[in-house]
Amino acid sequence: MPPAKTADLHLHTFYSDGTDAPERVVELAKAAGLSAIAITDHDNTEACAVAEPAARRAGIELIPGIEMSASVEAQDVHVLGLFLDFGHPPLVAHLTEQQARRVRRVHEMVRRLSEVGVRISAAEVLELAALGTVGRPHVARILLKHGYISSLPEAFSKYLGPDNPGFVPGSPMPPSRIIRLILEAGGVPVLAHPVYLKGDAFIDAFTRDGLAGLEVYHSSHTPEQVRHYEGVADRLKLLKTGGSDYHGESKEGLPVGAVTIPYELVESLRQWTSRNR
Ligand code: AMP
Ligand code: ZN
Ligand code: FE
Ligand code: FE
Repeated sequence: MPPAKTADLHLHTFYSDGTDAPERVVELAKAAGLSAIAITDHDNTEACAVAEPAARRAGIELIPGIEMSASVEAQDVHVLGLFLDFGHPPLVAHLTEQQARRVRRVHEMVRRLSEVGVRISAAEVLELAALGTVGRPHVARILLKHGYISSLPEAFSKYLGPDNPGFVPGSPMPPSRIIRLILEAGGVPVLAHPVYLKGDAFIDAFTRDGLAGLEVYHSSHTPEQVRHYEGVADRLKLLKTGGSDYHGESKEGLPVGAVTIPYELVESLRQWTSRNR
């Protein structure tokens, strides 16, 4: 019997805060023996077109994907969009606006950090993200470069996390708005890494807003949490997805394919889109 087909539906490239080129991510997926992948950069869809020829050559199915920022009650919420139409005009308009907002956010983070004696330049941060979406990991890398921290995770516990002096939320958009945008673009809206949310009640609320899937399988979930979210997905009739959340050197020790799902779940997602378009 041939080995069972698997997929990793949560991967980042240097079109957001990953450190690899899209073609490199495809190469790593091939080496890991994956049949399908979704590149899900933060608020950016450009890597997919770049990766497409490499994926075709490698015989890997590339599913259109994105990870979009939203917030509720001062918490960051990440919504994955899978199988969506990247050309949908309201989505394109939103992403253009969101990219500009993220640039303004970097200036605000740098200003707040200067108030606690941290002197870095916004230009240096933005240069690291010249190809795509800028985010906190780019700020973290500049903090590391100038010796304010000794490891990337330290940036999030000392300067950039929700309770730290440099924190600025990633997006003012409510999750309901982002879910609607993904649905209107023909995609499946999926709540990413639910373990980061303060409570399952939010998942119920997002489901009433049209959420269709839950990222049950994720590199930050323990086996107990996976079982828990399988139960939540069954109770709310949500599709189950999963992936590694690969970021290259931004998240050390986490390879492409660190978390995979059976290909049957990819088929379920696709069937859902053909029923709901
Ligand atoms: P942003 O979208 O700019 O708010 O940045 C979010 C990204 O920062 C996530 O996708 C992770 O890549 C990274 N991140 C968030 N929290 C942490 C953490 N505690 N340690 C390391 N990386 C983190
Ligand atoms: Zn990230
Ligand atoms: Fe995320
Ligand atoms: Fe992610």
